[in-house]
Amino acid sequence: MSESRTFTARWVFPVAGPPLPHGTVTVHGDTIAAVEPHGVRTADEDLGNVAIIPGLVNAHTHLDLSGARGLIPPTDPEHFTDWLRGVIAYRRGRTPEQVQADIRAGLAECLRSGTTLLGDITVGGASYATVTTAATRAVLFWELIGLSEERYLAGLKAISNNKLGGSWDPDAPPAEYPETHFCRWGLSPHAPYSVNHSHARGQLFFGSAAIHLAESPAELELLATKSGPFVEFLEDLGVWNPDAITATLGDFLVSHEKAASPSLYIHCNYLPLDTPFQPHQSIVYCPRTHGAFLHPPHPFREFLKRGVRVCLGTDSLASNPDLDILAEARFVHARHPDVAGEQLLRMVTLAGAEAHGWAKECGSLEVGKSADFVAVPLPERDAADPHELLFADHPGERRTLFRGEWRV
Ligand SMILES: [Zn+2]
Repeated sequence: MSESRTFTARWVFPVAGPPLPHGTVTVHGDTIAAVEPHGVRTADEDLGNVAIIPGLVNAHTHLDLSGARGLIPPTDPEHFTDWLRGVIAYRRGRTPEQVQADIRAGLAECLRSGTTLLGDITVGGASYATVTTAATRAVLFWELIGLSEERYLAGLKAISNNKLGGSWDPDAPPAEYPETHFCRWGLSPHAPYSVNHSHARGQLFFGSAAIHLAESPAELELLATKSGPFVEFLEDLGVWNPDAITATLGDFLVSHEKAASPSLYIHCNYLPLDTPFQPHQSIVYCPRTHGAFLHPPHPFREFLKRGVRVCLGTDSLASNPDLDILAEARFVHARHPDVAGEQLLRMVTLAGAEAHGWAKECGSLEVGKSADFVAVPLPERDAADPHELLFADHPGERRTLFRGEWRV
């Protein structure tokens, strides 16, 4: 039986409860054995002027685009399809070896900043080998694209074991990509402008799923009138198929009554405020990417007020400066100081874990959960609310404990 170790620091943020000044976290093997206020237990190790927070959750990445940093400048919202053309051209110019190197570099960046659970969209399983051998948890969302029924089902067949005639069986991923203790599969019907609606909607309600939704004004125009910039974009790609566009935005959220698997709705920049959400459905807001495209203010605060789960993602380096999810929270804090620090921290920890179906294992510092935490350097000054210190734009190397072991 392995020994217990007790850590302390200037602040401990359990997320499951209020911040603890000079609190302690006791780890036994790969599990949290105790989280206590100062004075209950003597610490073995004082990490100093840092915040101990739960491992961070980055709910949206495309690791395979990590070589694109700075190469495809985000456009204004009216020219979103121009940016998509840039991403497609970039992808076509990348060799499989380059893609693998990009995935490794992107994952290293995520891990360095303290991510211990990642939601990555993967094309053809390209990130599987790298992610499953790293010290992290992940849900890999197999990307499905195709307005035509044939193309969409061909993509689905590639990830399905095909016992059900090509339909997705979340309990039986294909043998060449087995789930691991720390990496699970999901599906990602890409977006309403790129998938066959009648087939894609089914995937959102059984097994973990993620879809880009309400990202641009052009997408709303396409769904409402089958016109606008996406028609020309899709015609140029040779895939325009008006018969595949049959659902409204809301239809992608109307779930089957038996559905209970996590569904992630990525971006939601233009989602109507009264859109109904079920408890298993979550919004993923990508703050700096949203800002880079100069979209109008994001409706996340209105959805939070309604009790809808909102977590944060970095999106890819094709639109974001880095893959540091705490930097996303700091960006939100600087622009929206009205959002409570407690709620913001939850958005990059426990809410992300809940959104991916991992909250029993991680997302907060609680007895019985995985011994994952990040030690985040703090500024020297004091603040009435300790979250102010955590969300101050402060440099310094973070250290991450994952399953009871320091990441190197
Ligand atoms: Zn994305």
